[in-house]
Amino acid sequence: MLLKNKVAIITGAASERGIGRATAMCFASQGARVVILDLDEAAAQKAASQLGEGHLGLAANVTDPDAVQRAVTHVINTFGRIDVLVNNAGITQPVKTLEISVSDYNRILDVNLKGTLLMSQAVIPVMQKQGGGSVICLSSVSAQRGGGIFGGPHYSAAKAGVLGLTKAMAREFGPDQIRFNALTPGLIHTDITGGLMQDARRHAIIDAIPLGRLGRAEDVAHAALFLASDLSAYLTGITLDVNGGMLIH
Ligand code: NAD
Repeated sequence: MLLKNKVAIITGAASERGIGRATAMCFASQGARVVILDLDEAAAQKAASQLGEGHLGLAANVTDPDAVQRAVTHVINTFGRIDVLVNNAGITQPVKTLEISVSDYNRILDVNLKGTLLMSQAVIPVMQKQGGGSVICLSSVSAQRGGGIFGGPHYSAAKAGVLGLTKAMAREFGPDQIRFNALTPGLIHTDITGGLMQDARRHAIIDAIPLGRLGRAEDVAHAALFLASDLSAYLTGITLDVNGGMLIH
């Protein structure tokens, strides 16, 4: 049991085939008490109950500072501590540079980047008091290779921002023993593309992956488990690629 008695908040974990849900299942199987935080309360509660006894489902929009703070207070009132935060909530949009409207830009940047900041700001004081913690932030291979998978340039920018934010927080809060690390998944088979990716495009991507397949949500969950657990106790500020070799650099 790598996470026995640890309390882990995972944002965006209600999506049934998503990375957050797979991470929630993986963490629960390793002894964690899991908090599923997502937009819809009923969906979050249902996802939490499917993990078994002793888990919690809460509604919060990660772009809303008050909602984020309320959710974190609820977790503290329920479990008394927070050991792990996975900043997983994210959205994307397949558009090109000249098609990005200001509202598209705001939406994509807000959920992916501002949400990561707000959630981190809410849990850091708790982790400081406890003497440490682990925060895992979902970036993307799109940040490293300049998109070209599915999301638009604003998504690449948001996810590149997540990398910078994660590294800067790792530097700032290392002395508090709070570790911040980023995951950069390649193309993972989930619902984030909303079925909009065409088969021909998918096959072209697979042809360029040395391991010869798309990623599974569990592949990312297992990497998150490593970063959440004490197995990675001396790692902070790292970027862990989970991409089947799509980007070897
Ligand atoms: P998904 O669409 O299956 O799940 C995303 C979840 O985030 C949903 O449950 C959604 O309700 C939630 N969410 C959206 N906006 C929110 C908000 N404002 N507040 C709270 N929750 C919100 O997506 P996924 O593929 O599992 O992606 C998870 C993360 O991994 C995202 O950050 C994504 O950018 C990143 N990622 C995914 C891939 C991929 O190929 N699937 C690749 C690289 C990175």
